[in-house]
Amino acid sequence: MTREYAVPAAARGSVLGQAEIDAVAALVRSGAPLSAGRSRTEFEERFAEHLGAAHALTVTSGTVALRLAVDLLDLREGDEVIATPQTYQATVQPLLEHPVRVRFCDVDPDSLALDAGALEALLTDRTRAIMLVHYGGYPADLARILELARARGAVVVEDCAHALGATRDGRHPGSLGDIGCFSFQGSKNITTLGEGGMVTVHRSDWAERIERTRGNDIDGEFVHTTPGADVPAALPWMKYAEHIHRREVAALRRGGTNATMSEASAAVGLVQLAKLDTLVERRRSIAARLDAALAAFAGRVRVPAVPHGVRHSYHLYTFFVEDPGARDRLLAALDRRGVEIQLRYYPQHLLPEWRARGHRRGECPVAERLWFDQHVNLPCHPGLTDEQVDHLVGALVGGLREVPHGPGAPSGATRATGGATCPIST
Ligand SMILES: *Cc1c(COP(=O)(O)O)cnc(C)c1O
Repeated sequence: MTREYAVPAAARGSVLGQAEIDAVAALVRSGAPLSAGRSRTEFEERFAEHLGAAHALTVTSGTVALRLAVDLLDLREGDEVIATPQTYQATVQPLLEHPVRVRFCDVDPDSLALDAGALEALLTDRTRAIMLVHYGGYPADLARILELARARGAVVVEDCAHALGATRDGRHPGSLGDIGCFSFQGSKNITTLGEGGMVTVHRSDWAERIERTRGNDIDGEFVHTTPGADVPAALPWMKYAEHIHRREVAALRRGGTNATMSEASAAVGLVQLAKLDTLVERRRSIAARLDAALAAFAGRVRVPAVPHGVRHSYHLYTFFVEDPGARDRLLAALDRRGVEIQLRYYPQHLLPEWRARGHRRGECPVAERLWFDQHVNLPCHPGLTDEQVDHLVGALVGGLREVPHGPGAPSGATRATGGATCPIST
């Protein structure tokens, strides 16, 4: 039985309104094509303009965006890729299918993004790419990372699934590195009817490659030759069958696929993009209330420092409990008070697929310590009403007061495996 929480971790039901309904209704009534068409093109143009990226290409999900991004890298045996462990599995999953060595890089304890110092130590002349995430919508500081990557000729892939609406010194994630990958899944900062994604690139040859692989088209040059004797005269177009055989189907050649975003999704995306600021402001105002509540518990909890010039989009609200024994007790206290906790994300290098490739505890000490002992995510999304936010703040303050702390406090650690007592999203 699923429990009804007073404050759910993610929006229940639709977060869309009349403007999105009208956009879909207008499209359906127009009789315009429902596959790729004008809405898709317009959504891509506005999105690229919003970010300051040269090319933006819609796809069907963030997972597909990341898969197509990794395909662009043309990874070969012996290549190395540096990746963040603190992310959703889709960031690193495509690498499992390539014969590369993945080096998980430890994270910065505030942003949870790749730590530039740790990254520097992992770079080699075999490093082909760096895969990072702007965790929770905290835009990572890419200045040093890009400098290090450029010096080695490594490609920087930004997973921007949380970061639409975030900026650092006025610049947008997805416009800084080489490839940006976005998700418009239902819980993300904007949604294209529940599922959708986008790839952004500066290089036009990469934009062309994505264009070819995201549509399951026949690829290659048309060369005229004499039709074979077996071509039936009744079907004149079939005289080209021979040529078609000589051409290559993109899907077979390069792992291409059909990732076409539908017109209905793109039409909703256009409306949502226009609402982005309002949606992100709501997240930011909930986060400000949580920051203020936590300020009274300074020393017991650590709220990530957000420097001047950083606009955090708060896809996730994250803070850290200083006393390792107290974190799980706090999670249980919040759960009892009707706050649904989902912790994001279990360190990727410790998932079975990566352990099977030799990855171990100890590889990323900061990411591991924070996750297993200190990490808390609280509900923070525009689906929450003002009353729910009040309830959340009350539960947080009440929970922190209730949980024992300081020297002599009983330890909350009753965990055999280092897991937490509440549902953990990997
Ligand atoms: C949601 C998410 C994805 C995957 O996006 P989908 O559209 O759900 O496939 C990738 N990376 C991160 C960090 C995400 O949060």
